[in-house]
Amino acid sequence: GDLVIAIDGFSSTGKSTLAKLLAKELGYIHIDSGAMYRAITLYAIENGMFYDGKVLEMELVPQLQFIDIHFELNHQNGKNEIYLNGENVEAKIREMEVSSKVSLIAKIPEVRILAVDLQRKLGEHKRIVMDGRDIGTTVFPDADLKIYLKASAEERAMRRYEELLKTEHPATYDEVFKNISERDLMDSTREISPLRKADDAIVVENGNLTPQQTMEKVLEIIKD
Ligand code: C5P
Repeated sequence: GDLVIAIDGFSSTGKSTLAKLLAKELGYIHIDSGAMYRAITLYAIENGMFYDGKVLEMELVPQLQFIDIHFELNHQNGKNEIYLNGENVEAKIREMEVSSKVSLIAKIPEVRILAVDLQRKLGEHKRIVMDGRDIGTTVFPDADLKIYLKASAEERAMRRYEELLKTEHPATYDEVFKNISERDLMDSTREISPLRKADDAIVVENGNLTPQQTMEKVLEIIKD
């Protein structure tokens, strides 16, 4: 049938990789909800809205109405890439500067309302796999399938470190590990929609599974 599939978990658990493979297998669309928070963070950085390690919330919130975010399918790689006010920012939003600030942006109530509204609109036609932190708990509480992905912090840091090595802006393993630990803490302790497993989510540990094996495991769950 036409399903809504929610995938949640801590940073770098392989949510996007799984969501992408699954969407491809099922002929669904994949939306990376974290990309929206990252794009808003990039907007705030580019417009000088960070000061002394904090975000100037009173400057950002009135500007949110001028932020246009949409996704477009890149036919070369099959990925739904994110556009911020008309610019493809898919690469820029993965840089460490964005990663180090995004959890500050993601806890602003008005930011979450904007992102969740857009996410629900994208899910209206079903046949979607969305990954994030609050997809099964808040965005789609009635999702047909909820997966909660788990892997150790060391494993996750190593994966993200290796990913960044392939880009123009690599970081050290220690920097990546610190960033992931800080985000884990902020994402799970914030007031609005903190990361937690939905009661009806199925836990999948992928520490020693390849992306393909993880995807097959989820396909088995769908068949059951
Ligand atoms: O998934 P990704 O690591 O790209 O997400 C970046 C950040 O966006 C997370 O650390 C979290 O602060 C925020 N986020 C969120 N809710 C989501 C997805 C991401 O708060 N559904």
